Amino acid sequence: MAEQKRDYYEVLGVSKDASQEDIKKAYRVLAKKYHPDMNPGDKNAAEKFKEASEAYAVLSDENKRRQYDQFGMSAFDGSGGFGSQGFDFNSADFSDIFSDIFGDIFGGGGARSRGAANGPMKGSNIRTSVRITFQEAVFGCDKDITLNLKDPCPTCGGTGAKPGTSPQMCPKCGGRGQVVYTQQSFFGTVRNVQTCPDCGGSGKIIRDKCPDCGGSGYKTSRKTIRVTIPAGIDNGMSVRIREKGEPGANGGPRGDLLVEVLVASDPEFTREDENIYSTVRISYPVAALGGTVRINTVDGPVLYDVKAGTQTQTRVRLRGKGVPSLRSASSRGDHYVTLVVDVPTHLSREAKEALKAYDALTGNTLNASEETAEPEEKETKKKKKGFFK
Ligand SMILES: [Zn+2]
Ligand SMILES: [Zn+2]
Repeated sequence: MAEQKRDYYEVLGVSKDASQEDIKKAYRVLAKKYHPDMNPGDKNAAEKFKEASEAYAVLSDENKRRQYDQFGMSAFDGSGGFGSQGFDFNSADFSDIFSDIFGDIFGGGGARSRGAANGPMKGSNIRTSVRITFQEAVFGCDKDITLNLKDPCPTCGGTGAKPGTSPQMCPKCGGRGQVVYTQQSFFGTVRNVQTCPDCGGSGKIIRDKCPDCGGSGYKTSRKTIRVTIPAGIDNGMSVRIREKGEPGANGGPRGDLLVEVLVASDPEFTREDENIYSTVRISYPVAALGGTVRINTVDGPVLYDVKAGTQTQTRVRLRGKGVPSLRSASSRGDHYVTLVVDVPTHLSREAKEALKAYDALTGNTLNASEETAEPEEKETKKKKKGFFK
């Protein structure tokens, strides 16, 4: 096989003492001319492209070039070089060449997508959500999340190829993962870049699929992951767990797992940022005379001294009883309590008598009359006014 190959210098059309710059320049011209994207369906061009790429891969590498100069094609026979399968288009070297050269040929976008197809690529992020209680959001918690997670297939090591075989460079796109269609139009040549239909954008074709994973390179299994939710987290925030997402490609790291936190509403407390709000009903005597009441906080009940003469809807602050700051757990918001003076609806006879006696003491005898039972009528109001005058 090796014997049939043309001399690399001859392939690139450069002299034996050509500089690296000359070699690169020569390859760039050939690659542009014979690139599969530019010659769709042209087998001869594809062969020429492959030949030039191989020559360039060797001559652009000082070490390989020295070996080649010394031993010729035989330097790359067997295990020492490209082996019996020929040039490995999926080697790391070749990946470098592509990003180097095709960045120039196809512009920045081409270079980036090229890198995306064959270079190390971080896996996708996975999004999921978890429901927690109001209290768990305030103080933080650990939650176990079970989800389907992909891992590289152990049988093929993630290549998707049957053990003993390896994925081949996609001939349609030349391993780029994208194909460029050029069309002539009224405005000139229009280039359309599309994901390669043959390889689906991976730049690789698997001829013998791994029997274990069916060629996907991944095995999916149910995994349980413990998520530590920090104290102070709020509804709709996400916790990022690094590298628990989809596996990366070509040695890239895994993506991240993003867990959106859904905080259940609490029957008693509401929250705004780091402050907590609640309402506590106090009796009329406590409002009037003052007294100690129990107020529930996220830390448990506290005793609070209501001042004498407290009006309904008075808001009091319990300092530091709010939500811990996400930035520093030692700093906490406040808990604001709205004191609502309770008007009793069911009174015992004794209580009624006591209230009437109180009413009499304060000089307001209208209390028990019929008129006040009909509110919002102008006549009543007038009467009332007249009465007080
Ligand atoms: Zn496999
Ligand atoms: Zn392809």
